[in-house]
Amino acid sequence: LQSYVGFDSITSQIERKLLKRGFQFNVMVVGQSGLGKSTLVNTIFASHLIESKGRTQADEPSRKTVEIHALTETIIENGVKLRLNIVDTPGYGDQVNNEGCWDTIVKYIKDQHSAFLRKELTAMRDRFIQDTRIHSCLFFISPTGHSLKPIDIVVLKKLTEVVNVIPVIAKSDSLTIEERLAFKQRIKDELIHHNIKLYPYASDEDDLQDQTLNETYQAMIPFAVVGSEQSIIVDGKPVRVRQNRWGVINVENEDHCEFIHLRNFLTRTHLQDLIETTSMIHYETFRSKQLMALKE
Ligand code: GDP
Ligand code: MG
Repeated sequence: LQSYVGFDSITSQIERKLLKRGFQFNVMVVGQSGLGKSTLVNTIFASHLIESKGRTQADEPSRKTVEIHALTETIIENGVKLRLNIVDTPGYGDQVNNEGCWDTIVKYIKDQHSAFLRKELTAMRDRFIQDTRIHSCLFFISPTGHSLKPIDIVVLKKLTEVVNVIPVIAKSDSLTIEERLAFKQRIKDELIHHNIKLYPYASDEDDLQDQTLNETYQAMIPFAVVGSEQSIIVDGKPVRVRQNRWGVINVENEDHCEFIHLRNFLTRTHLQDLIETTSMIHYETFRSKQLMALKE
């Protein structure tokens, strides 16, 4: 008769260790300035992480992000610690000459992989390596209602090769529901036409539940989002809203926009997978290329 050994407690042992250590999640935002990048990040993580233009003083000239900068904040929910690192990038495509404007962004992503590899290869390596690799890149599409800009296609192509890209239709309150749907379809067609493959990728480990969930999100991406730092109280709870000439948009209402789906995707359903995919696919690709180059 087999006696009970007790290794099933490994799950709680892992949980305890992970809770003590906390999680590191690195998000990058990319897109033209003024598309609401800072606002959206603040809306998702419900704090004032990045200074957005809406909050600058009237007499202050609006401050554009001119270089890449990272901001770290620790969030704790029910005892789970999340160290959030938000990387804001200069609005690309703002210049008259946009040749190579994506280089600094791609280089930043690769530099983080390179730093991680260096630490991994150090003989007396740290037991725990601080992870600065970008786990997801929110790519902001201008709500023109027409199509992607040629430069968007170039940048998306470059980015999807090195990082999990999540495209969003910025400020989607400026489009009607019909315009939004048509725009989304056109973007999807263009992505297919240019052979741009987006996260989530199919994996052998996916069970039926994962597949169904991924298909739902794949159909929805790019998420049509609205961001806001203004709240009103509804039924005793603060609700993020955006007021315009026509009325009030409730950012968290799925009839109004897909903000809530994006937030669920990032924080509730795919957080761990984004981290894992970065390590197992993007970092691994980088690492094997580097090690190959060393051998030659
Ligand atoms: P960033 O330069 O991309 O970081 O853009 P900001 O977050 O600084 O936002 C630029 C301006 O757009 C501010 O005045 C925001 O209030 C406004 N804004 C942000 N998100 C939205 C949105 O979803 N819809 C609309 N209509 N305006 C927005
Ligand atoms: Mg900004």
